[in-house]
Formats: sequence, C-alpha cells, structure tokens
Amino acid sequence: MFATPAAIVSVPDPKKLQEWEGRCRRCGECCFEKTIDRYGCVHTTPEPCRFLDIHERTCRVYHQRQELEDDCVQLTPENIDTLHWLPANCSYRSELY
Ligand code: SF4
Repeated sequence: MFATPAAIVSVPDPKKLQEWEGRCRRCGECCFEKTIDRYGCVHTTPEPCRFLDIHERTCRVYHQRQELEDDCVQLTPENIDTLHWLPANCSYRSELY
C-alpha cells in the first residue's frame, strides 16, 4: 500500500499513528483477494488489489484508499482482533496471539 497495505489506521495522535503503522512489515499479503471455503477457512488468492504495487508491496493510493476502494479495511487497535482474514503471519496479528 504506498506506505502500508490495505491495512491502515485511524489513530488520531500522529505519534501513535506512526507507531501503529510501524508495526506493518509491508509484506502486502493483506492486499490480495481472499476466499472463504465451506468450512469457514480463509484462503489468499494470487489476485492483488488493483492498487497494490506488487513489486514494492505498497498501496499506490494509500492516502485515498478508503475513497477509492470500498473493500479496503482500515486496521485499527479497535478492530484488529476481529479481522480473522488477516494472514497468520501478519505482524499485527502476531502481537495478539
Ligand atoms: S499482512 Fe499485516 S504486516 Fe503484512 S502488509 Fe498487511 S498489515 Fe502489514
């Protein structure tokens, strides 16, 4: 996601925002389409978000992502533990479990 992938933040304090976004390791895995099988398991497909720079693994429209992509979910401290589709190796998830 230019700065960070689909994941991003709504933390008002600039210092806290920087700290929060700094947790992202810019792998871009969250910016690939997902499917859910009949057992409820989430699978990542090879299909990236149309705005993902697949070489840099960053969003090309980071600061407008919420306006340009309806499916883009902002990662926040409040919703991070509900986003079960995030990759198991996502640095935000790994801090939770
Ligand atoms: S999966 Fe997690 S660590 Fe990787 S880019 Fe997305 S938010 Fe960042």
